[in-house]
Amino acid sequence: MATVARPSLDLDSLRREFPALQQDVNGRPLVYLDSAATAQRPRAVLEALRAFYEHDNANVHRGLYELARRATDAYEAARVTVARFLNAPSPAEVVWVRGTTEAINLVAASWGGANLRAGDEILVTVLEHHSNLVPWQLVAQRTGAVLRSVDIDDRGRLRLDQLDELLTDRTRIVAVGHASNALGTINPVREIADRAHAAGALVLVDGAQGAAHLPVDVQALGCDFYAFSGHKVGGPMGIGVLWGRRELLDAMPPYQGGGEMIARVELQQSTWAELPHKFEAGTPNVAGAVGLAAALDFWDAVGREAVQAHEDALARYALDRLRDVPGLRVLGPDSTEARTAVFSLALDGVHPHDIATILDADGIAIRAGHHCAQPLMRRLGVPATARASCFAYTTFEEIDRLAIALEAAGRIFA
Ligand code: PLP
Repeated sequence: MATVARPSLDLDSLRREFPALQQDVNGRPLVYLDSAATAQRPRAVLEALRAFYEHDNANVHRGLYELARRATDAYEAARVTVARFLNAPSPAEVVWVRGTTEAINLVAASWGGANLRAGDEILVTVLEHHSNLVPWQLVAQRTGAVLRSVDIDDRGRLRLDQLDELLTDRTRIVAVGHASNALGTINPVREIADRAHAAGALVLVDGAQGAAHLPVDVQALGCDFYAFSGHKVGGPMGIGVLWGRRELLDAMPPYQGGGEMIARVELQQSTWAELPHKFEAGTPNVAGAVGLAAALDFWDAVGREAVQAHEDALARYALDRLRDVPGLRVLGPDSTEARTAVFSLALDGVHPHDIATILDADGIAIRAGHHCAQPLMRRLGVPATARASCFAYTTFEEIDRLAIALEAAGRIFA
């Protein structure tokens, strides 16, 4: 078995902060390896939600009473926390949305609807989640714009050699993931952004998997929009963030109309509120915002560098350990390449759904399917994969249990 230097994250105490991890499933301690779908929440987030609803619950930006003031303050303080996390120049550039999906739909519909013309090109990649494909397809259908895509090489890395060829004077935006939810590939966003900008195109980064595992500095990344979801970083479901450069957001029309997003309303027409409220129609998910900020604060307190070092070590350990499993292939980058601890697995002669079912009987939760990346599955020539995805709380012993269970699955189907 491989030996890897283990970084100094106190995993026992970290795991104690996650109530959902303290349970047996099918008679065995739960091994939760589906954090790329949604992460478990630390107690600090659950307590922040509870405290909000028990003490501060009121609608925001409306009331002139104590609870409404507290709710508004907590909601806006959460925005400041997110701006700090992203190193955004201003909290006014941080727009609350339901999640990555809504953030990308907002940009595609609002910026795309206002700026794309017939024949313009939107550049995506074959690695993208459906959330970073379908919104662009919808706006392309409406405007006559065309989608083009960057391919991957045999190890699931973007073919950057194709980029310069695909970036033309018709390319208006490049929409790319920070990290792949299916293969774990980390994309060189800065390099892509530099080349896109040189060609006159904007860059949107789908940060659903990036925000959970990588340092995010929107200024250093050089992107124009960054989207992520609260539930993938240990925050609540139903809250997420769109960050965009102020001048772009300022110039974009509203995405949805309603309360909160207006300055003045006449019967026939209206004017819009300042950023970011222009994009926040209706009662927002205030508790969600507070919970998301609590998650970001939690990871700050744990130490993001220690978390990243742990996840890097896990990725190397898992790739080594899984190599010992007969008939198993791990799709995607190897341990020397930029990748997260997400493993798409193909086991000879065993359907991914059967793998997931067998592992579930052993208390191990993984995902099987196309992972909302059907074009990628087609490109890889597989209908589906079994995906094991780690987070800061994943242990080396859990990787061992995964490997042992996969060996057993191989023997059952042999
Ligand atoms: N993009 C990527 C890379 C993802 O992994 C996901 C979720 O799995 C999404 C987008 C969509 O996120 P959400 O469902 O939270 O909107």
